[in-house]
Amino acid sequence: MSEMTSSPVDLPVLATVVCPYCAVVVPDSRFCGACGAHLVHSGLRASQRLHSYAAFPDEPVFRISVVTSLFPHLSHRAKAPFRVGFAVFLVLLLIFALAGTAAPLIAVSALGVPLLFLLYIWEVDPYEGSFLPTTFVCLLLGVGLGAGWAIIGGSEVDKALLPSLGSGLTSGSSLVAAVAVPAIGQLLMCVPMIIARRMQRGPVESLDGFVAGATGALGFTLAATIDLMSPWLSNGQLTHEGFLSNVTQVILRGVSLPLISAMATGFIGMAFWAKLGGRATSARAKWLTSPGIALLLALIVQVGLGFTDIAALSDAVLVGIHIVALGVLILATRVGMHYVLLHEALDVTIGAPRVCANCTHLVPTMAFCPQCGVAGRAVARPHRHHATWPLIDGFMTPQGDST
Ligand SMILES: [Zn+2]
Ligand SMILES: [Zn+2]
Repeated sequence: MSEMTSSPVDLPVLATVVCPYCAVVVPDSRFCGACGAHLVHSGLRASQRLHSYAAFPDEPVFRISVVTSLFPHLSHRAKAPFRVGFAVFLVLLLIFALAGTAAPLIAVSALGVPLLFLLYIWEVDPYEGSFLPTTFVCLLLGVGLGAGWAIIGGSEVDKALLPSLGSGLTSGSSLVAAVAVPAIGQLLMCVPMIIARRMQRGPVESLDGFVAGATGALGFTLAATIDLMSPWLSNGQLTHEGFLSNVTQVILRGVSLPLISAMATGFIGMAFWAKLGGRATSARAKWLTSPGIALLLALIVQVGLGFTDIAALSDAVLVGIHIVALGVLILATRVGMHYVLLHEALDVTIGAPRVCANCTHLVPTMAFCPQCGVAGRAVARPHRHHATWPLIDGFMTPQGDST
């Protein structure tokens, strides 16, 4: 099966094989550079490669990780600082909740996740230099919609929470609060991403849609969290309510709401922006990449949490349900992203050599790194053009090995 062809530049010849899954002639390596299939395994295990997530191939698809799910473009070395940043955010929430200081607690709850996400956009620059207008449009639209909806929808939720005889989870006001408020909120969160798609010129990629969707949703939840928590400044919530009840509210407003909304809306944006080609891949399950499925999942989770929030559950159960919902959504988002990246890959050419930003091997530029299998589109644009090949005397050579 192996044959030898000349590489496009003046370098040693490159061994190639015909990929059994997409029938393209690709470099003879661990992964198919065209369709991403794992060439060492066989069958669906190889073409779907659930053990090797397309955005972070050293992780399985089914892993609950906030950082590698919310920040798909992050480079290998940037994962740790973002994990530390997220941990610092959680610790700050706990410290301010323990200290009973309302203003910093509200500020950290409202701004923590959105600030981390803006840092991520700054770090990976997904729109290559033109990210500022798109990001700010998404963020400001999200904030505006979130503030408006918190004022209108928040009063409906308050009404449903007031104890009244005969009211249950199926009364009219409860249905409005548990179904209409979160469902309309979720639809409004999608508006910035749809407008950003119309603004964006040039080639767009699915993960740009993820960033736009998540940014709009985080603007929305930022405004909603400030609106929901600002009464704490005057009503003495932190002194009148028990510590556990306050921590529950902080986890719901500062952690669960922004993360779930960002990931659900990011998933919808990713599916909405993706241009899936007609090229046949053997990964199957293309229905998982449909925007309709992503929207349906987001609505089910948001309405489910809407019922949970008004159901007078104990704090521990409430937090438990939110954490389970977050875990389910993380897994669903990763599955969606994995299949979008597998189906979105259109480029079957064997390009000039470059150093892979994920594994630091010198590999030909292709839709997937033939060595580690990372999807080219999950690599931040500034890291895609490392033309250090004249320094290294062969393909597939680890950067350090050539010295
Ligand atoms: Zn292939
Ligand atoms: Zn690589």
